[in-house]
Amino acid sequence: MSLTRRSVALLGATGSIGIQTLDVLRLEPDHFELVAIAGGQRVTELAAIAEEFHVRRIGIANESDREPLASLVAADVEIVVGSTGLAELAQCADIVVNAVMGFAGLPVTMAALLAGKRLALANKESLIAAAPLVVAARSTPGATVLPIDSEHCAIHQCLAGSRAGVGHPDVRRLLLTASGGPFRGWSHERLATASKRDALNHPTWSMGPKITVDSSTLMNKGLEVLEASALFGIEVERVDVVVHPQSIVHSMVEYVDGSVVAQLSRPDMRLPIAYCLGLPERLHHGWGMLDFTQPLSLTFEAPDREAFPALDLAYGAARRGGAAPAWLSAANEVAVEAFLNGRLAWAQIVPTVAAVMDQYVDDPLHSLDDLLANDATARRLTHGILEK
Ligand code: NAD
Ligand code: MG
Repeated sequence: MSLTRRSVALLGATGSIGIQTLDVLRLEPDHFELVAIAGGQRVTELAAIAEEFHVRRIGIANESDREPLASLVAADVEIVVGSTGLAELAQCADIVVNAVMGFAGLPVTMAALLAGKRLALANKESLIAAAPLVVAARSTPGATVLPIDSEHCAIHQCLAGSRAGVGHPDVRRLLLTASGGPFRGWSHERLATASKRDALNHPTWSMGPKITVDSSTLMNKGLEVLEASALFGIEVERVDVVVHPQSIVHSMVEYVDGSVVAQLSRPDMRLPIAYCLGLPERLHHGWGMLDFTQPLSLTFEAPDREAFPALDLAYGAARRGGAAPAWLSAANEVAVEAFLNGRLAWAQIVPTVAAVMDQYVDDPLHSLDDLLANDATARRLTHGILEK
């Protein structure tokens, strides 16, 4: 049996995940048709992708980019703008790849699920912030979420064939692996001197700037604990983090009988992307294949929770639930942006987020409006702290 040809909307097409998704699509023209793309900036790159893949619908973030883009593409190409544009594009394909960075990806996640689409999700921020709303949207007939994030894609594979049931009755815990980032083993004193160049120098993965900084603070792993809990319906007490510097074991599931199931490959995001596109079939490309005739060493250690308090901050937000994860993610996004713009020291990123979380007042998060209000409040408070 071969796959039927499915349409794909790639939103966040010009970023790190977007470009690697295009790599996969380029090799699979018989299986996938790219019908819509979107990006925040870079109209020249968007136009080039549209030409190569004959895409007729493009989303952009700002109205001011419409004219420059229109001058580069065929006259019949439809250009849509902003979050409503993203939501529209997220309903127009069989598979929606959400590769947008940050909370801006929320309309894609919600619209794709509410339209009953397969959501291939890289954008963890939207799931984390909107977890209670996503749970409801996922029950739309046809809607599925497949995680592109490598750890969650690994867990998805390790859970395959396990007994279904609320809370995964046969699972003792999920073990998320973490490379430890560029600052693994650094002392508190040395971390105080960490620069932007140091933070952007990830040892095993090449990714967009925001997630690279998140990896350096271990906030990425904290966000991934929240992501795993929301995706797999498992409480955070049963999600643990293990540092594994080689990034070969992408995550593991420990079952109640003591068995541990892991997924391995060399680090290559095209593998999880292809998994999410191809399911129920696997695409024949061998991304990140391991050579077991060569020496391979796999080491594991506990994370340094004192030097990297972002991890416990995330567990704390998970326990509070409601809008707390949305606050954590929003405050972190603002703080990381300030760091990338040279307005905040690396060592102040997590303390800034912690100071915002100290002001969180419980909100159960009943609606999208609730979420948008909470996101705005957390951002305002973070900016307030940064301006002090
Ligand atoms: P990136 O910064 O390289 O790319 C982000 C993309 O989003 C770009 O195409 C950008 O133009 C687009 N974008 C940003 N704001 C937008 C808006 N308002 N409207 C439309 N498009 C917008 O980021 P990335 O590293 O590719 O990460 C994307 C997402 O995937 C993030 O949520 C990240 O956490 C997640 N992720 C990335 C990796 C990785 O290897 N890069 C791994 C796991 C998860
Ligand atoms: Mg990851």
